[in-house]
Amino acid sequence: MYIISACLLGENCKYNGGNNLNENVIDLIKGHNYIAVCPEVAAGCPVPRSPMEIRAGRVYSIDGEDFTEKFRDGAARVLAEARARAKESGEDIELAVLKSRSPSCGCGRIYDGTFTHTLVDGDGVLAELLKKNGIKIISEEEC
Ligand code: SF4
Repeated sequence: MYIISACLLGENCKYNGGNNLNENVIDLIKGHNYIAVCPEVAAGCPVPRSPMEIRAGRVYSIDGEDFTEKFRDGAARVLAEARARAKESGEDIELAVLKSRSPSCGCGRIYDGTFTHTLVDGDGVLAELLKKNGIKIISEEEC
């Protein structure tokens, strides 16, 4: 079973109310069982919402509000839901395909918390949790 960032499948769950529909991801999931997830919506964040970035290991909105615990809670909910779905279908979670650079879904490179489009090494909150739990992650750019 695959875990897929919902915005890559066309769900309008991005901070600005849009999506990141990606045809390569659509092709990749053909014939596979998958779960579409948005950890920020799972955290109870509205759509649209303020842009968020990670600075010194914590998640802040552009207005300076600390969303770290909310994001951790959303990521934990996503993992629990994915595990439940995998168990139900008798499959392992083989792979997560996550949206690059997001403070939740980004894997390897994320924005630096200054809201200046500057990238640094690091993982989003969901990507970090999935990695810790041994789940392989790729971004849509690797599809
Ligand atoms: S949290 Fe992840 S799934 Fe949700 S909009 Fe951002 S990148 Fe997409």
